[in-house]
Amino acid sequence: MVLHTLHKSRVSHARVGSLLTKDGCIETPAFVAVATNAALKAVDLRSVPDLDVLFCNTYHLMLHPGADVVAETGGLRRFMNTDRVIMTDSGGFQVFSLKHGTVHDELVHSSSLKKASVANKSKRQPSVADVRVSEGGVGFRSYRDGTRLLLTPELSVQAQKQLNGSIIMPLDELPPYHVSYEDLKASLDRTLRWEQRSLDEHLKQENGQLMYYIIHGGSDRGLRKRSVDFVRSKGGWGGYAIGGALGKDREEMRDIVEHVMGECGLRQLRENTGKPVHVLGVADPKSIKQLVKLGCDTFDSCWATKVARHGAMLCEPSTTVPSGRINIQSGRWKRAHFSLPGCSCHTCSTYSLSYLHHLAKAKEPVFQSLISIHNLTFMTNFMKDIRRQIEENVL
Ligand SMILES: [Zn+2]
Repeated sequence: MVLHTLHKSRVSHARVGSLLTKDGCIETPAFVAVATNAALKAVDLRSVPDLDVLFCNTYHLMLHPGADVVAETGGLRRFMNTDRVIMTDSGGFQVFSLKHGTVHDELVHSSSLKKASVANKSKRQPSVADVRVSEGGVGFRSYRDGTRLLLTPELSVQAQKQLNGSIIMPLDELPPYHVSYEDLKASLDRTLRWEQRSLDEHLKQENGQLMYYIIHGGSDRGLRKRSVDFVRSKGGWGGYAIGGALGKDREEMRDIVEHVMGECGLRQLRENTGKPVHVLGVADPKSIKQLVKLGCDTFDSCWATKVARHGAMLCEPSTTVPSGRINIQSGRWKRAHFSLPGCSCHTCSTYSLSYLHHLAKAKEPVFQSLISIHNLTFMTNFMKDIRRQIEENVL
């Protein structure tokens, strides 16, 4: 058993649990902060003491400083000098982002792209990365020195062994949201083979790390089912992650995840195996609330820090702030000589909104750091509240 269930909600499929890793326990449901380059962007990790778990990107760390350099210290936790639990990805997501852009980019440019093939998409972003997929793995050019590299499932896992994260991911292919059924199916089939090869490599030297199986199939219900069926009879996986394109909006995402959890049987599988369910790349408060109710346990996304750097401070939605965030750059805060109510983070317990507004307008670099600290603290407090609501059977 990897995830010990402490309480099951009586009104939804939500559960409060304790996820056991080689590097410590995580209380779930949990928010996983993205620390791409083994660092929170613009934030010293010590400024956010309640953040239990981080998500680092293998692609970036392989290119710099190199997984071997991190391995010399014993892994990311020693390299970063932290006791937090660390998840690493396979590196595939970043490589495929070089080719396709993110789902968001794709939808922003979507009107002319609905029928676009993968080949057309690479034209849209004439990438120096020159990404090519083969059965062996995914080839690309290093953005640092132009060297041609091939990321195979085995190499990705070996790099993740060197980084020595608590939770690791198999290599998978990330087809864009608008892709034909045939291409999506071919991609899923290849991903299933890559995931199996990743697991085989992982099990050669397990090292206490948990490897999650990633569920793919885009927005096709049959392919999602096929992806869950593949893992049903197989041991060795430490948990499940829902990945791939999760729809164009929150409603479609909810439908896809509900289909995966319900009809495809992932909810039953997590009960039978005592393993956690992670959602890749989705962690805004509204989505988390929806997905927790479907039975998902952990969520990673750079959203909270990304919006922070543009001046959005997260807060509880209310009648005066229905969106759940204020824009500190707005002139409305120029003379607000008080701090954001209800938050005791480093930023809010030290500075007024007026001062933060001034830093934003003066483009002082510390502004990005201060707002990011607030948003990350908001997310950890938000998750504590989610766990409380589940325990009280209101969520
Ligand atoms: Zn705050």
